[in-house]
Amino acid sequence: MKIDVNGTMMQAKILFSENDIHKRIKELSEKINADHGKDNVLVILIVLNGALIFAADLIRNLIMPTEMETIRLKSYESMSSTGHVQLLTQLPDLAGKHVLVVEDIIDTGRSLHFLLENLKHANTASVKVCSLLNKPEAREFDVTADYVGFDIAKNFVVGYGLDLDGRLRNLPYVADLLPQAN
Ligand code: 5GP
Ligand code: MG
Repeated sequence: MKIDVNGTMMQAKILFSENDIHKRIKELSEKINADHGKDNVLVILIVLNGALIFAADLIRNLIMPTEMETIRLKSYESMSSTGHVQLLTQLPDLAGKHVLVVEDIIDTGRSLHFLLENLKHANTASVKVCSLLNKPEAREFDVTADYVGFDIAKNFVVGYGLDLDGRLRNLPYVADLLPQAN
């Protein structure tokens, strides 16, 4: 299929349909519900902007009392391969709270590693991570998510919150952008 990327038609392949995603979210939320129970508050810490749409669907399947917080990270790729990450918003007060970090995708793991290091100083009761997508072959930092929607290959994907230059987050499915034939 072809999708419109800023006026250019690009070849794309749907990896996960809207229905695939919603089925998987049901399964993930059942696990989270079973692990956490329905009595204690769970703070859903959404990593903006990518995880916004995933978190919105996930949270509506959770049975415990929830609070919603957001955080914005910015990753820089420097000339060397190290790169670094910055918090663009302040970490909310999470002292004594059970926290579920919700991410769109774990690629190298750099952003999540950085966030988890920051959360170590937040005196939380517990921290777990739920990511819609995971690229195990791309990992450079030693991080794992407690809940993963789908493992995928190293290709660049878009849709369902994931962007290309700020666009395509509104696609209801996750698609692989293919190299162009022309
Ligand atoms: P990491 O720090 O794990 O390398 O990647 C962190 C961020 O890079 C993700 O949260 C996401 O915002 C972005 N990213 C990584 N892989 C992809 C991808 O395939 N597609 C899109 N749209 N964003 C990605
Ligand atoms: Mg992200």
